[in-house]
Amino acid sequence: MKIDVLTLFPEMLSALNSSLTGKAREKGLYELNCHNIRDYSLDKHKKCDDAPFGGGAGMVMMAQPIHDCITAIDPHHNAKRIYMSPRGRVLNQQLLKELSQEKHLLILCGHYEGVDQRVLDMDIDMELSIGDYVLSGGEIPAMVVIDGILRYIPDVLGNCESTVDESFSKPMLEYPQYTRPQEYCGMSVPDVLVSGDHAKVDKWRREQSLEITRRNRPDLLEDR
Ligand code: SAM
Repeated sequence: MKIDVLTLFPEMLSALNSSLTGKAREKGLYELNCHNIRDYSLDKHKKCDDAPFGGGAGMVMMAQPIHDCITAIDPHHNAKRIYMSPRGRVLNQQLLKELSQEKHLLILCGHYEGVDQRVLDMDIDMELSIGDYVLSGGEIPAMVVIDGILRYIPDVLGNCESTVDESFSKPMLEYPQYTRPQEYCGMSVPDVLVSGDHAKVDKWRREQSLEITRRNRPDLLEDR
């Protein structure tokens, strides 16, 4: 998969160079290119934002540098073009899985009060939100999307089972996990997990999943 990110703050995306996403990139399992929208500004001071028509707080990102950047990167509109936005469709596990099937993603990160609507109307396929709250920029949301998608790309996860049996793979949350030592601060691992009886372990995990889901996210059970 190829991912192009358009941003005024490309250095923010460097967090993707660590951990799983960094290793995946080193192994060539995906290609990530970060483009500085400012490089495409025709203004002599490389200005990329201006006051909103109609008045109001803050600044709006101008259409020209964004449109020129998108056109340079994806001239034939082969990419699925996404604008990170609190107004967008809300991200979930199923949508991450669907997006992981795309060959080429272009992700536009907004800042300030957002982006001139005309560039969205002209160039963007989908507005995507990571939740019902407002952050200061689209870079962290873009990284959320990229991290979530990469987990579905073959060979990115060491253990190929990892996306199968985890929270949201079914409409349930995951059961509690434990590792060594068996005793810690006077607390023991539940006996069933060291019993060696796999059927009992599976039953215990199902019950725990159900209980945690009921307590923390009863809405998931209603949707089943
Ligand atoms: N004025 C906008 C509104 O009320 O919808 C909010 C703009 S926000 C301060 C600046 C940028 O952060 C947005 O253009 C978007 O790219 C990004 N952003 C903020 N919250 C987000 C969210 N929940 N999901 C995706 N992107 C978000």
